[in-house]
Amino acid sequence: MTIDETSIPTDRDRVEDAVRRARHAARWWGGLSHDDRKNWLLEFKSVVARNSASLVDVVREETGKPADDALLEVMLAVEHLTWAAKNARRVLRERSVLPGLVSANQAASVRYEPMGVVGVIGPWNYPVYTPMGSIAYSMAAGNAVVFKPSELTPRTGTWLADTWDSLSAPHSVLQTVVGDGAVGAHLARAGVDKVAFTGSTATAKKVMATCAETLTPIVVEGGGKDALIVDEGADLDAASEFAAFGAMGNAGQTCAGVERVYVVDALADRFVDKLVARVTDLRVGDAADAQYGRMTLPRQVDVVRSQVEDALARGGRAVVGGPESVRPPYVDPVVLLDVPEDSEAQVEETFGPTVVVNRVRDLDEAIDRANTSKYGLGASVFTGSAAAGRRAADRLRVGVVSINSVLGFAAIGALPFGGVGDSGFGRIHGADGLREFSRVKSVTTQRFAPPLNLVTMTRKRRDVAIARFLLTKIHGRRRR
Ligand code: NDP
Repeated sequence: MTIDETSIPTDRDRVEDAVRRARHAARWWGGLSHDDRKNWLLEFKSVVARNSASLVDVVREETGKPADDALLEVMLAVEHLTWAAKNARRVLRERSVLPGLVSANQAASVRYEPMGVVGVIGPWNYPVYTPMGSIAYSMAAGNAVVFKPSELTPRTGTWLADTWDSLSAPHSVLQTVVGDGAVGAHLARAGVDKVAFTGSTATAKKVMATCAETLTPIVVEGGGKDALIVDEGADLDAASEFAAFGAMGNAGQTCAGVERVYVVDALADRFVDKLVARVTDLRVGDAADAQYGRMTLPRQVDVVRSQVEDALARGGRAVVGGPESVRPPYVDPVVLLDVPEDSEAQVEETFGPTVVVNRVRDLDEAIDRANTSKYGLGASVFTGSAAAGRRAADRLRVGVVSINSVLGFAAIGALPFGGVGDSGFGRIHGADGLREFSRVKSVTTQRFAPPLNLVTMTRKRRDVAIARFLLTKIHGRRRR
């Protein structure tokens, strides 16, 4: 018997089928009221929360992270799902705008309409929280979603879609298509109305090129090389505690994790002592009480090793660990000091449990150095002065700043999240996140004939003369 190969669906067929079904689902979902969608989404989050133990198990098995970290991730995702569901009506309702003097005869309003189908392409490091930032806000804005999880976390992605299906909604508004990068490329090419990509900057460029073929819009949540600044007056216990968590938590596999620390000279020795004490005996491994687990992406250990070796070869010093800390699939904590700013460890994303601490003269130098990165996702500033913290936030070239904490934004639904430069563009979360997945439509309604009729093929000379007079009278006045 010969198998008819043409009857075996290809990856492309699977993706196109899912997008077709999603388009059908989007007509139902997009036609519901905000309140109806809110109710479905709140039911969805309740089921996710009630079954979080099983989701935690899947995440733990696929990523190797401790159960507590997986639980934290699920909690954050549920928080965002709730915020998006509850706020979509307020944020996306039609609103009237002032038409201005020239168009005083028009009523003007802005609408935010669903786009249709959003293709979400997600990474493996936070396989629930990260894609949920796009999934929840897309769905709350009235779109159906086709989600392509990382090939390292397919069961987590499937769990989410299966859980939606368990609600017995008439249509699958959330579907998951599993597979490798080629499946992601098919999705970007399948005629979706927007792609929400989270992953590395290198892949983002490829996905963007694919989207360009069909002029499909894209939001990019890319990598990061976040700096933590320790300024005069900082609480060093808090700064070192947060630095340890930001650098080592989730084995350093956090897009907005701490990879670089800039500490003012006067505090440097004391800060380093405290940081060393906090990370030296971290429990790394698969045991139930481990503080972080294995590197999820096996080849990332080579990146970490190469960066540590390069930093040491260029004059950096290791005060915790070193190249020997890389013992696949684990990497023990590494703290490096005095690493040249042009070394790999300072320029490229590490995505491992290592951190570089460099001394600076003052806050100005810290900000200047932090801003040299091609990435611009997040930053943290520890300072004794709220005003200094806010001034630093003004000057840091990043999308999110946490003052006196790290990752302070993560659970705040109202705060938009995203970066600049190589960290990407567009925003998920918050009102901007809801609008990111909406199509803006401007509507005018003529209420009465304009006193000056300039939009006619039979303009009167008198109307044009009055318009010319008003132009100079209203706009032409000297301002200085
Ligand atoms: P990758 O860039 O390797 O992959 C991201 C996603 O893109 C995966 O689902 C991947 O599939 C898919 N993909 C790969 N090639 C293509 C392609 N040609 N077309 C379409 N899709 C493709 O990132 P990682 O999964 O390794 O995640 C780590 C990265 O994500 C880090 O750089 C991290 O900083 C970043 N990140 C950013 C966040 C943010 O919000 N800014 C949050 C979390 C992570 P597959 O895995 O199957 O190859």
